[in-house]
Amino acid sequence: MDYEPVIGLEVHAQLLTRSKIFCGCSTAFGEPPNTQTCPVCTGQPGSLPVINRKAVEFAIKLGLATHCTIAPYSVFARKNYFYPDLPKGYQISMYEYPLAEYGFIEIIDQGKKKRIGLIRIHMEEDAGKLKHGETPETAPFSYVDFNRTGVPLVEIVSGPDIRSPQEAGEYLRRLRAILQYLEVCTGDMEKGTFRCDANISVRPEGQDRFGTRTELKNMNSFRHVEKALEYEIKRQIALLKDGGKVVQETRLWDAGANITASMRGKEEAHDYRYFPDPDLVPLKIDENWIETIRQSLPELPNQKKERFIREFKIPEYDAEILTSTRAMADYFEESVRLFPEPKTVSNWMMGELLRELKRDDREVDQCSVTPNHLAEMLSMVKDGTISGKIAKDVFEEMYRTGNPPGRIVREKGWVQIVDTGEIEGAVESVIQSNPKLAEDYRNGKEKVFGFLVGEVMKATRGKANPKLVNELLRKKLKGQK
Ligand code: ADP
Ligand code: MG
Ligand code: ZN
Repeated sequence: MDYEPVIGLEVHAQLLTRSKIFCGCSTAFGEPPNTQTCPVCTGQPGSLPVINRKAVEFAIKLGLATHCTIAPYSVFARKNYFYPDLPKGYQISMYEYPLAEYGFIEIIDQGKKKRIGLIRIHMEEDAGKLKHGETPETAPFSYVDFNRTGVPLVEIVSGPDIRSPQEAGEYLRRLRAILQYLEVCTGDMEKGTFRCDANISVRPEGQDRFGTRTELKNMNSFRHVEKALEYEIKRQIALLKDGGKVVQETRLWDAGANITASMRGKEEAHDYRYFPDPDLVPLKIDENWIETIRQSLPELPNQKKERFIREFKIPEYDAEILTSTRAMADYFEESVRLFPEPKTVSNWMMGELLRELKRDDREVDQCSVTPNHLAEMLSMVKDGTISGKIAKDVFEEMYRTGNPPGRIVREKGWVQIVDTGEIEGAVESVIQSNPKLAEDYRNGKEKVFGFLVGEVMKATRGKANPKLVNELLRKKLKGQK
């Protein structure tokens, strides 16, 4: 029997407001512990929360960008539980009345468009951070840092519409791109500004009813999410095939061991005793405000993609990749402005540039090759200053050093040889050292020509103009009959 996975994702994204969601404390990252706290975010008796208007605006932006309906009326609720990083003993969240509902995100999986439904987007506050440690001098200790307590979050809950780990990855990349385009979240999984829990079940193919799900936590990269899901699918299928049953539970991804392990079962699951927070009035969102925000939305990934195809006449495949992050799209547009041959720019970005970035696990805005340098280099290829082959070396050098291409070519002596005399010299010596092949060519073996061209290029260390090499080599071979 074949099984089909069913996946639903819950994403927490930190909103990029300057102050916290219910107080005026700064949200700046990396400050000394507990320097950004006040009676409100540390839950002192008698203190009162006041909602941050900017945080609501950012959450509405996301709701609109993901085709949700913004609720005219939503309610903050207390989610009660004890944990040392939660000074109030409850987290302010939303429960029965979330801010936004019924949206979708469009993904492309294996060339096909697919909509992943969004059940809800709600607002809540982040918890603090625990730091556990032990030194030779001390007993094991745990510190708590409340700087993060009260940083605004949105939780985005997808429908159980995802059918493979790859689709889950696509969905997450798309959602992150939307947040980044909107400039409401940095989307950095390693720093924890974008976090994902994954619900996963399997069912026999053709069965309507969903299977029992487990919830996976503790994945801090897209790769981890995909790997954890792959592992969990295999585990659940093996269990069922063995006559066993999947139990509903929360499991933690162990990135070192590449497995998921049970953290707590359904019986130990919390009863959060949600109730409306009496300290906060319900949010009544004005229709006009929603419209104003709608008008202010920037161009979103899909719109940009369509425009790139239209305006720059590049294939959909290219446009999809080039708009996958805002930084990529900006880089592309700036490069094309400076060197108006979009397909050439695209080829270099999708080839050399992405390869280097991927190897170093970097984003395009951390790249030392600026659009300026790329455009300058492409102009040098175009006007014949350097060969297309040398250009790859120039690019690598630009990437490594951050130097402009002009300087690299000058210092390395990589200027293309267009001097016929010099190329002729190389051609002659190649023919002389390969008399057998030259003879073969003259006897009609066209195949060897490419090899001889390669030899000439080698002899000139890739600097000879390939067109001239071709011409001169042919002439020489024929002339010497
Ligand atoms: P909870 O309140 O326990 O988090 P929800 O009903 O809100 O539960 O669902 C949370 C997530 O689990 C959603 O993303 C939803 O799509 C997903 N989900 C629900 N049922 C299943 C299932 N049987 N298999 C996989 N995912 C599921
Ligand atoms: Mg959940
Ligand atoms: Zn505060």
